[in-house]
Parts: sequence; C-alpha cells; structure tokens
Amino acid sequence: MRASSPPREGVLPRSRLSALFQALQEWGYEIIGPQIRDQAIVYDVLDRAEDLAAGYREEHAPGRYRLTPRAQQKVFASTASIHAWKRFLYPPEIKLYQISLNSSQAQIESLATPVRKRAFLGVRPCDLHAIAVQDRIFTGGVYRDPYYEANRAATLLIAVNCDEPGATCFCGSMGSGPSATHGFDLLLTEILEPEHRFLIESGSAAGEAILSRLPVTPPQEEDRTAAQDLHRQACQKFQRFVDTNELRELMYAQAESEHWEKVARRCFACANCTQVCPTCFCVNFEDSSDVSGATAQRWRRWDSCFHLSFSYIHGGSVRTSVGARYRQWITHKLASWWDQFGTSGCVGCGRCVTWCPAAIDITAEAKALGTLTRSERAHAST
Ligand code: SF4
Ligand code: SF4
Repeated sequence: MRASSPPREGVLPRSRLSALFQALQEWGYEIIGPQIRDQAIVYDVLDRAEDLAAGYREEHAPGRYRLTPRAQQKVFASTASIHAWKRFLYPPEIKLYQISLNSSQAQIESLATPVRKRAFLGVRPCDLHAIAVQDRIFTGGVYRDPYYEANRAATLLIAVNCDEPGATCFCGSMGSGPSATHGFDLLLTEILEPEHRFLIESGSAAGEAILSRLPVTPPQEEDRTAAQDLHRQACQKFQRFVDTNELRELMYAQAESEHWEKVARRCFACANCTQVCPTCFCVNFEDSSDVSGATAQRWRRWDSCFHLSFSYIHGGSVRTSVGARYRQWITHKLASWWDQFGTSGCVGCGRCVTWCPAAIDITAEAKALGTLTRSERAHAST
C-alpha cells in the first residue's frame, strides 16, 4: 500500500494553535515570534502560544509608534516590528575569537556563535524578501559569512500574510507583499470570521513534515475565498507608494543635488534607520585586550554608514557631511544595491520611516529626488 503524501494545506482552528508550538518544540526548534515588551511588539523567544502579542494594534506614522488594545484577539497584528529578523541570523555583536598569552605561547580560541535550531513565527512577506536579500549577500557570492550561513541553515520560516499594512508600509510598491508567494516553510493566513482560524500552506519538505503533525482539516472553498478577500483588502489599504519606474537612474542623476543638504538639516545621523532596516548589514571589527595584555578579543558589531567613523580611511573620513551620508544610504538602498547584488536594498517594510526621530520618510525623499530629475530633464529638453 502506498503511503499517503503529506498535506500541503490545512486549516487549523485558533484554539489549536498550541499544537504548532508543540510540534515545533518536539522537533527541537526554539520558537521566536512577536510579543510585547516596553509597549512595543518585539521578536524574541516564545515558550507558548499564549505569549504571542494577541489583541493589540500597532499605529505607525513617520517618527511615531503606538501599541493599542483592540477588541479582536487577532494573533498576528504587527506589521514590521521594531526588530528585524536579522538580529537572530546576523546578530548585533559576535565575539569572533579570543587570544590568550600562556607563558610565551599565544592560544587562539575560536568563539563562533553556537547555532540554535530556530523557527521564526510570524514572518511578514516583506521580511521574507529581506531575508532572501541577505541570503544573496551572505550565502550567494564570493564573500560568504559562515556565521550567517550556519544560522540560516538551522532556521525554519513560518510566514504570515499581511492583511493590515501599517501606515508606513509600502511593500506593495516594492513587489514584496502584502502576501507571500515563496521563500517560506509554512505560510499562515489568519482568518477571523466566522471562526478564528489559520489557513496553512507548506512551502518545503520541512514545512510539510510540521503540517502533517497538526490537527488540520482540508481547506474549504470559503477558506480560500476568505484568504483572497483579505489579500484584496490589504492591497487597498496602502497609504505609501514608491514609483520604482527608472528609480535607479533617477537617484543616480541627483548625486550632486542640493537636496542632500536640505535632508541633512533634519537628519540627526542617529543611525536608527540602518539599525531597524532588515537588509542593512554594515559592521565593524573591534579588538580589545585586558589591562595585563594576557587576553585579547576580536568582536564583530553592527555599524552604520551614518556614523562619521564608518568611512574613516587613512587619517580621515570620506563622507564628512550628514548630507553625504544620507545620500550614501538612500542611493545604496534604491540604486547601487541593484548594481551590487541584482536586487533592491529596500523591501518597503516602513521601519526606517516609523523609527526615524526626525520623521524623514524614504518614500517622500525618493519622490522628491525623482521629481527633481524629471523636471531637470524637462528643462534640458526645452
Ligand atoms: S534618516 Fe532619521 S533615522 Fe536615519 S540617521 Fe537620519 S535622523 Fe536618524
Ligand atoms: S530602507 Fe526602510 S523601508 Fe526599506 S527595507 Fe530598509 S527599513 Fe524597510
């Protein structure tokens, strides 16, 4: 008798969500997902389904974030959290190795981060794209990052389609949302009415294996229709857009623009935008030793192109003005990233807009720079 093939889809009642936790934990996964801390939704270790950030709504605006209770017990209500998943795949700091001087001999101890088998639960489609961007950078080219590769290989991605884009989201413009099409192990669509449930789709052998252990029922026509309706509604809710037509060329054309100094008058060069961005990856390497000189360590820590010291070469920084640093960041995101990695450096998650203390909005800046180039072209042709 042929063994029946594992299910590729199923419907899980909200009341049985703990079965997903149980299946993941029995397979040795540490579950990371959205939860509330310090009046914000963050990503961290979850022991049980009850710890998920259910029953809240995020309010996003440029330079503004609030978390407010809501009547519905919707489980996955956050858009892009202040945390990006890179903090687990590409941690903010890693102690790479330590050198100890033992009598006259130096001992080098490699301190690569221990790899955990992890399940990311609640990955939004924009963040799936961001992980794919970092995969390309760290695992697809000449310069590979063994730490990222090891973490990534041990990670299961459980995505959730977005049906309530935040006010700063623009993944619809960047082709990275609001629904996921690939790059996940499991994909959930949260349906609230008439019964609270999840339509689950597997996207890999590992996802199928997990799905086969859940108390799911086959999807019915009304489940599929509800999921399609949620997708349609999400597409209509975007409040921010970026016109990506010729965007790279429009950005490059403004390399010497006076506009950079206008932005610089507002920008604090605080680096918030780069720290929250799910694709930014600048790091620095720092060596330190104890006072006796007996041990020394090498650390890798997140850095930012907004820091004056980041472009320090041979006695001076290359990008001394804040305007030059803002130009570097946005031009890299929207233009030169294409030349370097064959993809956009921005997935439209909106984090840099929400968490910028000066309310500088990448969508408004892209529009302003595009308008400048178009009007210069029009002027030149008259
Ligand atoms: S654009 Fe905003 S978040 Fe980024 S460095 Fe400037 S002030 Fe900080
Ligand atoms: S540049 Fe801003 S909107 Fe784009 S991916 Fe980074 S944080 Fe998200």
